[in-house]
Amino acid sequence: MSKYLDMANAIMDEIVDIRRHIHRYPELSRKEFETSKFVQEKLAEYGVDTIEVLAETAVVATIRGGKGDGKCIALRCDMDALPVQEETDLPWASVNPGVMHACGHDMHTAMMLGNAKMLCDLRGEFAGTVKLIFQHAEEYMPKDGSKELVGLRVMDGVDAILGMHNFPTENDKVGVVGFRAGGFTTSADEFGFDIIGTGGHGSLPHKAPDPILAAAEMIMLFQQVQSREVAPTDAAIFMMNKIEGGKAPNIISDHVYMIGNARAFTTEARQKIEDHVYRVARAVEDLSHCKIEVTATHGYDSVCNDDALTDFLFAELPDIIGKDHVEMFKQPMNFSEDFSFYSTLTGVPEVLMILQAGHVGDKVYSLHNSHCAVKEEAMPYGMAAMTGAAVAFLNK
Ligand SMILES: [Zn+2]
Ligand SMILES: [Zn+2]
Repeated sequence: MSKYLDMANAIMDEIVDIRRHIHRYPELSRKEFETSKFVQEKLAEYGVDTIEVLAETAVVATIRGGKGDGKCIALRCDMDALPVQEETDLPWASVNPGVMHACGHDMHTAMMLGNAKMLCDLRGEFAGTVKLIFQHAEEYMPKDGSKELVGLRVMDGVDAILGMHNFPTENDKVGVVGFRAGGFTTSADEFGFDIIGTGGHGSLPHKAPDPILAAAEMIMLFQQVQSREVAPTDAAIFMMNKIEGGKAPNIISDHVYMIGNARAFTTEARQKIEDHVYRVARAVEDLSHCKIEVTATHGYDSVCNDDALTDFLFAELPDIIGKDHVEMFKQPMNFSEDFSFYSTLTGVPEVLMILQAGHVGDKVYSLHNSHCAVKEEAMPYGMAAMTGAAVAFLNK
């Protein structure tokens, strides 16, 4: 076993206690006050070099290596919970009504404190600096925390950044770290439509524009972005997930509202969706005689794992956590993460890794589900991977 795994296993009791404490007292995005205070106390206890609070609840710490000046690598975790009522029955289940760490950010925060403790002990073995970012408000699109921290210059002087997200899986995968180069998570945008008519009598279809027919035509035409605008190998997902309108069977509606969610792995596909949305809206406006107003909300960029940094990690990680615990994913992930902005807004290379974490109980529940529960046994692999990779990067 590598020394990093030994170190991580040696502090597991403490990290499990920390994880359960954070899980029991979850806080929503931008309200992570107690979690932030708890993190600051632990960092002070472990003896990091600097602790800084940004944007009220985010915490940034640095640990300088004892081998002199060098590069700087950032490790990032997120700390916020979700507006979900926990239904797991675990002894450490949330005691805050309607709030749950259903995305595993409790584990991310606990593991990052583990990284802090390990890196303080390893100071003599590396040059340069590790910056630990305990980010607020990941689940708060589009007012997320990472964009704000980049604006507060958290990435100044940083040469590379690593992130890790746990993921519920089958139990034979516990502690296996997986990722791949290139587009790894989707971008996330929203497009809303107000389709406005005049209303009228159901017996006079030629006297009033029909917003419901216009909505139906638009939904059908939106499907063409995937089938005709992007290459078959590129994903451009645009689903209309909410639609409201109409009054009665004999009344021509005067208004339909609908809103959908757009996702893509590349900036090209993302732009194709947006162009197509406006083209369809203009065309159907013309054909239907309705007025169509589009509201766009631009959310997270796609996380694009840097090629060279990905190669470096695949070369180093087998020695750090064992080759059975490293997996090159064949497919990207279908969720979105504001971790993307640390790279897209600065040009600093990034890699997001997935820590496969099994499941507690008889069934795998997805992240954000009120029953979601993953295995703490994955945590030593997560900590060893992040700490070992940081040291290897700084000594490269
Ligand atoms: Zn989430
Ligand atoms: Zn998450």
